Amino acid sequence: MILDCAVIGGGPAGLNAALVLGRSRRKTILFDDNKPRNAVTSESHGFITRDGIHPQEFKKIGQEELNKYPDVRIEKQRVHCINKENSLFQVETENGKIYSAKKIILATGFTEILPDIPRVKEFYGKSLFSCPFCDGWELRDRPLAVIADGGKAFHMAKIVSNWTNDLIVFTNGSKVLSLEEQKLLESKGISINEKKIATFIGHEGMLEKIEFEDETSVPREGGFIAAEWKQAATFDSSLEYKLNEQGGIETDSWQRTNTEGVFACGDTRIAGPSQLIIAAAEGSMAAIAVNAALIEEKFNLEKHA
Ligand SMILES: Cc1cc2nc3c(=O)[nH]c(=O)nc-3n(C[C@H](O)[C@H](O)[C@H](O)COP(=O)(O)OP(=O)(O)OC[C@H]3O[C@@H](n4cnc5c(N)ncnc54)[C@H](O)[C@@H]3O)c2cc1C
Repeated sequence: MILDCAVIGGGPAGLNAALVLGRSRRKTILFDDNKPRNAVTSESHGFITRDGIHPQEFKKIGQEELNKYPDVRIEKQRVHCINKENSLFQVETENGKIYSAKKIILATGFTEILPDIPRVKEFYGKSLFSCPFCDGWELRDRPLAVIADGGKAFHMAKIVSNWTNDLIVFTNGSKVLSLEEQKLLESKGISINEKKIATFIGHEGMLEKIEFEDETSVPREGGFIAAEWKQAATFDSSLEYKLNEQGGIETDSWQRTNTEGVFACGDTRIAGPSQLIIAAAEGSMAAIAVNAALIEEKFNLEKHA
């Protein structure tokens, strides 16, 4: 069977793409190995009607909704290879199966690269986060940290100051703020600490203090890390996509990449705020664009027959 579309990645972006494709009677397989970025957290916020939901519950509801549509199937497999042969894509999964598809939607997300500080992973997703719009409300009015040893420090500090008046920027041994930026932050009551962090202290992921290499410490109850990002998936592939400055797959407003027949949506584009609802909306848009392309191909073929 030739699929109309192979959707790679079953987070909100891929799930919503598959939903719209299923409702459009497009033969679709959604491939997902269930390693989403937000697996470290137990609550997702900011998606209307689903505020506070557990990420895996969100996914379960999405998968159940797809079950209603006979043209959609979910394969819980990792895709490791995509190639284009003539006008069809060959998609190979880790168990060695190969599927042919007319179109591809990449919804594989990204992974953050956390700073190399001992115990950071114990706290990430519980009291340390990367997106204030996702988790700022839960940390409001508490003594917070912004941990940033690169160019995002100033920007992140300004944003996080919206949720607390007790904020310290920790640059972890780096000098990343200009004199002007330091003055501006200090004028708003935000302090700066440039000591090298030794570790995080707390219980069950809830931060209590940040300890430095000089054995001093500062009490903090949570905060935000300015992480770096990389693509969650790399494929053995002859396809070449244009990437943006952050390493995200570049698309137009219809989620089309520069490779004909390949669309990308959600975090994999690393192009703006990273949010479930934005990823889902882009998934919907990618599916509509796939439909539009298939319809055009059908009518053009008929015109030339
Ligand atoms: C700690 C934390 C807290 C967050 N909190 C919130 C929040 O409260 N609200 C909010 O809106 N957003 C939140 N986010 C952001 C949110 O998780 C992302 O914006 C969202 O998950 C992006 O959806 P996506 O579908 O693009 O990617 P993902 O959800 O990451 O899904 C990608 C899927 O593709 C699969 N995949 C990847 N490669 C392959 C492959 N080769 N083959 C098969 N499958 C593959 C992965 O296993 C994964 O299941 C949070 C993120 C983090 C890290």
